[in-house]
Amino acid sequence: MTVLVVGGGIGGLATALGLARAGHRVTVLEAAAVFEEIGAGIQVGPNGFRMLDALGVGPVVRSRAVHVDALRLRCGISGGLIAQLPIDAGFRDRFGTYAVVHRNDVLTPLLDACQDDERVDLRVNSGVESYAQDSLGVTAVLRSGDRVHGSALVGADGLRSAVRRQLVGDGDPQVSGHTTFRAVIPAHDVPSGLKENVVTLWAGPRYHVVWYVIAGGRYVNLVATTDNGAADPMTGKPVDHDEVLRHFSPLCDDAARVMELASEWRAWVLCDRAPVTTWQDSRVVLLGDAAHPVLQYAAQGACQALEDAVCLSSVFDPRDVVGSFARYVSMRHARTARVHHASRLMGREVYHPAGDAAADRDAMFASWTTADLHDRLEWLYG
Ligand SMILES: Cc1cc2nc3c(=O)[nH]c(=O)nc-3n(C[C@H](O)[C@H](O)[C@H](O)COP(=O)(O)OP(=O)(O)OC[C@H]3O[C@@H](n4cnc5c(N)ncnc54)[C@H](O)[C@@H]3O)c2cc1C
Repeated sequence: MTVLVVGGGIGGLATALGLARAGHRVTVLEAAAVFEEIGAGIQVGPNGFRMLDALGVGPVVRSRAVHVDALRLRCGISGGLIAQLPIDAGFRDRFGTYAVVHRNDVLTPLLDACQDDERVDLRVNSGVESYAQDSLGVTAVLRSGDRVHGSALVGADGLRSAVRRQLVGDGDPQVSGHTTFRAVIPAHDVPSGLKENVVTLWAGPRYHVVWYVIAGGRYVNLVATTDNGAADPMTGKPVDHDEVLRHFSPLCDDAARVMELASEWRAWVLCDRAPVTTWQDSRVVLLGDAAHPVLQYAAQGACQALEDAVCLSSVFDPRDVVGSFARYVSMRHARTARVHHASRLMGREVYHPAGDAAADRDAMFASWTTADLHDRLEWLYG
């Protein structure tokens, strides 16, 4: 009774590990030639760390993380502070760890733990084209024409999931019109005044810039996003420095200095999908971005994939695959839909407003204490 997991990203490997730890055999089918994350930094909230702890890899991820002192929202035009969430003892006592991590420092501990577990069979160059199933089991049909059999199949194959294409059939993801430019800068190139141990977000009219130190302080991660109406869903396309800068104006001095430090940029046009309840087709179920891709604005896509993985592996019962997948979907659907809406809302009302809408946002944050912020985050981190 082997569970097939399609996709070996954070969601797929976390699921494989969770299922193996619960005593099940798992085969991971990954399209790429290596298990690897593209992109640099990721913010992992307390809910994500609790899942990494449940999977037994929390301590090693924490040891490689940068434990920031605060999340700061600044005005992109004036540089003034709009809001601050200290990641201090008060935050940690209530919620737990919030840290920034290199993506591979989340993926590699999951991969190492899978490699150490004889119940997990990891296969690369195994892109899945489709699946077939009957009352006894599931077959993954690979692009090579090979077929792999199992008792159940989890589609963790990301935003452009082949499993979802067959299961939901809702076409391409929805293009948000927002373009994200990402760059990584060696920390020794960054003036010390710009190297605070915080996640800084400068919010301007139809743009925002996020900046934080990663990889034990060796690099700084820069993510600059503009609501420029882009229609072509590009992923990781190299772009010229001057082309990036023209989207970010007016920009306060610190943010402008940070942007000038980057030389190699890559661009992504962000996509998500409206929530659906159809994640399951009998013995086949979706997970992570394949099930509920969100915009990055709540920094929760990977955290939600981790929650999915822990939830699914804790309810999975090989004697009742269909029933246990249905339980997983019912436990996860509303929460991930809420994250989807919160992510879109944050982009619109917190990160990109201009004029009166920006003034309303500033007044709202000014009226909140740290305790108020904690209360508003309880549903997500608590
Ligand atoms: C700019 C940006 C910033 C982000 N920041 C954060 C953040 O701070 N915090 C956070 O929690 N989340 C963040 N996210 C979201 C996060 O990156 C994703 O939600 C998360 O990586 C999804 O994991 P996944 O395993 O579901 O999918 P993926 O990471 O996409 O993994 C899918 C895997 O499946 C493989 N695959 C694809 N198709 C097939 C196939 N047909 N057959 C076999 N294998 C296949 C792929 O090669 C890949 O390895 C961010 C996203 C972006 C774009």
